[in-house]
Amino acid sequence: SFHRILKEEILQGEHLGLGTRTNIYAGVLKVKSAEDEDAGYSSSQDVKVVLKVLGSGHRDISLAFFETASMMRQVSHKHIALLYGVCVRHLENIMVEEFVQFGPLDLLMRRQHSPLGTPWKFQVAKQLASALSYLEDKKLVHGFVCTKNILLARDGVDSEGGPFIKLSDPGIPITVLTREECVDRIPWIAPECVKDSTNLSVAADKWGFGTTLWEICYDGEVPLKDKKLTEKERFYAAECQLATPDCKELAELMTHCMTYDPHKRPFFRAIVRDIDTLEEQNPSIKPAPSQEVD
Ligand code: ATP
Ligand code: MG
Repeated sequence: SFHRILKEEILQGEHLGLGTRTNIYAGVLKVKSAEDEDAGYSSSQDVKVVLKVLGSGHRDISLAFFETASMMRQVSHKHIALLYGVCVRHLENIMVEEFVQFGPLDLLMRRQHSPLGTPWKFQVAKQLASALSYLEDKKLVHGFVCTKNILLARDGVDSEGGPFIKLSDPGIPITVLTREECVDRIPWIAPECVKDSTNLSVAADKWGFGTTLWEICYDGEVPLKDKKLTEKERFYAAECQLATPDCKELAELMTHCMTYDPHKRPFFRAIVRDIDTLEEQNPSIKPAPSQEVD
């Protein structure tokens, strides 16, 4: 149920980093123009992409890898990164994703010398909530909501127009991760998923959204950074909560989302409404009119 890309259609470039069981490269996709084909000649346009390569040593999880690709192919939203398709190159499976210029949110926040303003943070939170509300309506689960998986098409720091985010793919589904890898994802992974990764549902994305709000409030700090795996496990076992951020409004949303009972977490539709209301009531967090480009 996803578009097949031929290996001749992609060019692999610079190595960008390591994902979970994947290698990430910059690359180029040659996109044929249909109109030109109709006109009897062929031309192609080069699009900058990211190649997420699942190596030949991980063919046992290629089905799970395709599950992620198929979820991403079912979505079309301005705040979700576009997946062009999947390429099978010899024994490797490759997800071909839109290249998002300003890279991941965690790195961007940590790079800043002066703290990012509350309106900036609210805009990011609102855009993320709108993307997740869209997935909720389609009953689709992302599975790994975190600032590392949020990319910026516009950083909105020095430039006009504020930030513009794109939620990236979640990578390999947690159902095929080891117990240790799941525990390592505390506090992003929902508590019910550490108990049993097949508990993965839309409710788990609400928890992940809460943790992501925490990261945004703390300018890209890593929650539970110095904790060992056993300490992380104990954190959930004792139903602990992360420190409450100063930003009162986002803190309240965060705590709602990080409720241990998955049934008591709010709907993303309600979260989007709450953020709108907060902006209306608080002129200081409302972006200037020129920034409302979306
Ligand atoms: P996987 O999803 O397979 O686990 P990953 O997406 O988690 O992989 P990341 O650590 O998020 O891997 O990405 C590695 C690096 O690649 C990031 O730090 C970022 O710089 C870059 N990157 C990933 N996706 C994109 C993208 N769509 N556009 C631009 N850069 C990207
Ligand atoms: Mg990722």
